[in-house]
Amino acid sequence: MRLLVVEDDKDLNRQIKSTLEDAGYAVDTAFDGDEGHFLGDTEPYDAVILDLGLPEQDGITVLEKWRREGRNFPVLILTARDRWSEKVAGFDAGADDYVTKPFVTEEVLARIRALLRRAAGHASSELECGALRIDTRSARVTFDGEPIKLTSLEYRLLAYLMHHQEKVISRTELVEHLYDQDFDRDSNTIEVFVGRLRRKIGKDVIETVRGLGYRLASVENSKS
Ligand code: CA
Repeated sequence: MRLLVVEDDKDLNRQIKSTLEDAGYAVDTAFDGDEGHFLGDTEPYDAVILDLGLPEQDGITVLEKWRREGRNFPVLILTARDRWSEKVAGFDAGADDYVTKPFVTEEVLARIRALLRRAAGHASSELECGALRIDTRSARVTFDGEPIKLTSLEYRLLAYLMHHQEKVISRTELVEHLYDQDFDRDSNTIEVFVGRLRRKIGKDVIETVRGLGYRLASVENSKS
């Protein structure tokens, strides 16, 4: 899952980015409204954290533009503006959630998880596909009850497929959602990660759909 943080306080922006990265997300950052608007307009984010008081363009203006332009990723507003009328204006501009500063990191992480699973059509923080199960709260993965140890990129890949099970996901889509902007992207590395995942969870769990991409298969047991 790939997120965008739009926040002009540089230290806070870095702190949020590193917290989100520790939680397993790929994260891009923007430090003013113009940059934030541009990134949200051109990159396929899974969710965005948006400050309101920003240089160049206010967060509400940025959000309204995205929604007019058809950008439908979930947006969590993170701001010092705590009046009810400001919250109403945020939701009416197209926000999905609203947290006021000072905030508790755990709460923001929980809200992001909720936005991501709802956007993908899931209600529970535990996702299942056959014998495969991931707990998005703890980033823990089990197959047939056995814990599976994954690197953060392997987890990111599997979590993306789990959130979008039953869909065929192209390699391009995976590259766009697993790596941040600064990462040296190469779609061949996706194949490498899929290979490693297959060695850990069994070769039948991730199906290759020729010419299209990958899809999770509901495998009940027998790690192969
Ligand atoms: Ca600000």
